[in-house]
Amino acid sequence: MATQERRTNGDDYLRPESDPLVASSLQPSKEVKPGDWARFIQSLSWKEGPQLAVRNHKLQEMATQKLRREPVLRTRGNRTATVFFKEIAKRNDNAEATMGQSIGRRARRQCSHCAKNQGPFHICVIAVGFLKACASCTFSGKWQRCSLREEISRKEEKRRHKEKKRQHKEKKLQRKQGQQLQ
Ligand SMILES: [Zn+2]
Ligand SMILES: [Zn+2]
Repeated sequence: MATQERRTNGDDYLRPESDPLVASSLQPSKEVKPGDWARFIQSLSWKEGPQLAVRNHKLQEMATQKLRREPVLRTRGNRTATVFFKEIAKRNDNAEATMGQSIGRRARRQCSHCAKNQGPFHICVIAVGFLKACASCTFSGKWQRCSLREEISRKEEKRRHKEKKRQHKEKKLQRKQGQQLQ
């Protein structure tokens, strides 16, 4: 659909004025509470999406999850607020990665890419059920290079299995209750 592809240059959406935070070199792996950018990325109206036109079910569902941290950058580079916003508006990968960084769990062992201090975000975060790789590797669609992919897909498999079991149990219970009512 044409509307799914349409994107703006990012200038017509109210984004945070403050540049995204950059990890301090003194405490490079410290978690930062959800702030302007985490709240912004969650508050974007993905469902309507007229400004970004990112009509993406995954993003909609991600936006319903609890925010756990601010997406803090490893280094500034050229990522001012304007640049960072344009990156997010330009690619679903980048929007999903930034959202994943805000809602996911910190990887127990960081991926080899993050371990080399590469990728945009300062800590390695995985969002099982949403991202196939850590958020940093997902950014710019470079998910294939993430060394945590297998671990993530195993976790995803487990999660799906659990969900299926839960649904099965629920159905059984509903049937039972139905029978009792008759
Ligand atoms: Zn990583
Ligand atoms: Zn990775």
